[in-house]
Amino acid sequence: MIRQFVPTEVCLACQGCCRFKEAISVWSPCLLDEEIQGLLERKDIPAAALSVERRIMPVVNLEGEGFVCPFLKVATNHCQIYALRPFECQLYPFLLNLRKGKVLLTVDLNCPYLYEKINTPEAKDYIAYLSDYLNSARQIQMLKNNPQIIQAYEEVREVAELNFPHGIK
Ligand code: SF4
Ligand code: SF4
Repeated sequence: MIRQFVPTEVCLACQGCCRFKEAISVWSPCLLDEEIQGLLERKDIPAAALSVERRIMPVVNLEGEGFVCPFLKVATNHCQIYALRPFECQLYPFLLNLRKGKVLLTVDLNCPYLYEKINTPEAKDYIAYLSDYLNSARQIQMLKNNPQIIQAYEEVREVAELNFPHGIK
């Protein structure tokens, strides 16, 4: 598990994550191959929850507007697979971003907590931790095995470049 920057109680009181304007969204979590396998082995998770692009498929939010992750318990704002939540969910509000052939660590400043904290020493330390973690040989290999999770997001801020000396391929 990736160490978290945003405290759990802050996220539980926020509705910024796990909710989507559209059913097909670049913001819905893209999954590692082993995460798909793990979810498919669970009998309580319908295969329809996963798209052919290896994403979690949002469902209509019956308790509000737009769409939600099928694993979100809307009433309590809890993730029902929190202990097993995907790598991308652990990483957010940081995101891996492919830009001009480079793999960048970026941050989504639509997260209100990060927006407030981005220039603090605490955030600087966390970015250093996350860069080191993602630049480890094991994580780089994992990312090379799962290029689907390195996407092109708009309007995110670059905070570091990862060690992909020969690009993503
Ligand atoms: S937007 Fe930020 S504070 Fe809100 S739930 Fe997501 S990570 Fe937590
Ligand atoms: S798996 Fe959990 S943390 Fe990830 S989007 Fe769904 S409800 Fe949110």
